[in-house]
This record gives sequence, C-alpha cells and structure tokens, in this order.
Amino acid sequence: MIIFLKPHLTLDKEKEFRKFLVDRNVNVIPVRRRDQTLLVVAGRFGELAKREVENHHYVEKILETDKPYKLAGMSFNKSGTKIKLPKGTVIGNKHIVIMAGPCSVETKEQIMTSAKEVKDSGSQILRGGAFKPRTGPYDFQGLGKIGLHFLREAADRMNLSVITEVLDVRDIEMIEKYTDIFQVGTRNMQNYPLLKELGHSRKPVLLKRGMWATYKELLLAAEYILLGGNENVILCERGIRTHVPETRFTLDLNAVAYLKHETHLPVIVDPSHGTGRANMVRAMSKAAIAAGADGLLIEAHTNPLKSVSDADQAISMQELKKLVKEVKRVAEAVDRK
Ligand code: PEP
Ligand code: MN
Repeated sequence: MIIFLKPHLTLDKEKEFRKFLVDRNVNVIPVRRRDQTLLVVAGRFGELAKREVENHHYVEKILETDKPYKLAGMSFNKSGTKIKLPKGTVIGNKHIVIMAGPCSVETKEQIMTSAKEVKDSGSQILRGGAFKPRTGPYDFQGLGKIGLHFLREAADRMNLSVITEVLDVRDIEMIEKYTDIFQVGTRNMQNYPLLKELGHSRKPVLLKRGMWATYKELLLAAEYILLGGNENVILCERGIRTHVPETRFTLDLNAVAYLKHETHLPVIVDPSHGTGRANMVRAMSKAAIAAGADGLLIEAHTNPLKSVSDADQAISMQELKKLVKEVKRVAEAVDRK
C-alpha cells in the first residue's frame, strides 16, 4: 500500500501523521517528491488501520497493490512514465528514442566525429563509456573524467543528449555534471548502495537488466531508485546468459512484452550486447520496436574493426543510418513515431 499525503503538507504535520501510524504498528518508508510525500507501507496493514488512514485529513488517497515493487508496478502510474530530457527529447511517449555511439570514448576526435554521425542518423542521444566495467582488469578501463568532458562537448556541439555509465558511488556527483542519463550496467543491477544513491539524484537512470536477473529482480532493483524519490527510471533489456554459444548473450524480447504490462517505466532494448554480433543488430532493433520497446541503445563506431572495446558488435555509421530508417518504418507500423 502507498499513502499519498496531501501536497505541500508541512513537515510537522507529516511527523504528527507518522506518529499516528507508529501507534497503529504501521511501518512506512517516506518518498519525497517535488511537492508531495508518499509513504510506502513496508509490512502488512490491518483493515481498521486502513480505513482510519484513508479518512485522515492529511491523506490525499491510498493505493493498494499486491506487487512487491509498489512504485514500479503498473498500478502506480497507468498512463506511463514520460521522461523529459533538457534538449526536449521525451522517453516513453509515442516517439522512439535512439541512443547511439561507441562502446567507449577513445579519443576527442573519435567522439566528435561519432557525434556528428549519430546526429546525422536521426538519433537523439549520444552514448559512450568513460568508466568501463571490463571483464579483465588488463583491458582498457576507459578515459575517466577527460572522457566525460569530450563526450559532453561532442554532444553539445551537435545538440544531442548524453548517456554514460556510472560504476561507483564515489563518481556519481562528478558524472552528474556531464551526463543527462546515468547508465547502470548489467553487472551493477544489484549494486544496492549505487542504486540507493542514484535514487537521491533527479537525473534519469537507465537500469540494465542483470545478465542473470529475473524480471522481478529487475523491477525490485528499479524500486530501490524510485524509493529515493527519483521518478526517472528507464529499464533496459540487454540480453541474458543462456546455453547458446553462437551469440554473446540471448536478447530476451519476452522481457519487453512482459515489462510493458507490468510497469509504467519506459523500456529500452540494447541489441548490441544482446547479440554481440554487428550483423544481427539491425534485425533485432526492428524486432524490439515491434515488440513495444520505447527506444534502442546501439553501439556504433566510426571504424568498427578498430573499436577498443566490443568491436564484434559495433556497427558502422552507415549501418546506423540504415537501421534508424528501417526502425522508423517499423515504429509507424506499430502506431509509434
Ligand atoms: C555498455 O553499454 O557498454 C555495457 C558495458 O553494457 P552492459 O552493462 O549491458 O554489459
Ligand atoms: Mn559495450
């Protein structure tokens, strides 16, 4: 159950109401939003207490839900969460959003050229990792802060928004200055201290599904961010581990159809990591949009074979342009733009 307090209720009145709840053995976690506090009931709730709460003059309404993810569940916001970025792009409306760029920011020149190509393709958001979660410690770990600087400059020059990965709680404040969207990678989906801290930011967070995670685990991970008061969570299907050796991961498009029924949060698909093969990315992009995804996260490189990370799945900029064009036609066929 979620208790919506009346908007602009003073802290004193909120305190008084919390005392009223404690007296009735009701445990809550407060969620502070712009002009309203929600109290999420953590445990069970007696019928009597429920009626008393519902009729309390500090309460606007209550919302009952039997889901373990109370804020992420569909009943919380049936019209769907729409996330507005500073440059005007909205994630979660009729328009399909495309985030594209290299796996890693490699050099200033590389990201500058990439930004121009990404813009020309019709994509809205520039991706590029400056902090890379590499499987091996000897592999390129990313340029760090200077990479963020290059990424931001390249995006601004082309009027694109930025998405980049945050690996470590200690980097949040610094990365926040450069990015429009935080990316949480598959390996960090259950890094709860990181998720909690991102809950205190108001910048959108794209949460990638753990390569081993169930849908429920993904939604509960999103709940950690939402519980901090950050309403701007985007989910991302990026492929899971299966017995298939021919692809790097198996892109689970079931997740898209499932999540679109189960949550109000936007769903993005990453067919690059989901396949690990450049020649499969365009086909799976179209399939993702047909399945109901709100957008795509694509790895594209100005010289794919020379890509310092994830070269096998990097598509060329010409291929990106072709992909965007074809995706637009699929989008129209499923009543999107
Ligand atoms: C990436 O987007 O480059 C990345 C590391 O993704 P994932 O966390 O899905 O492996
Ligand atoms: Mn990558």
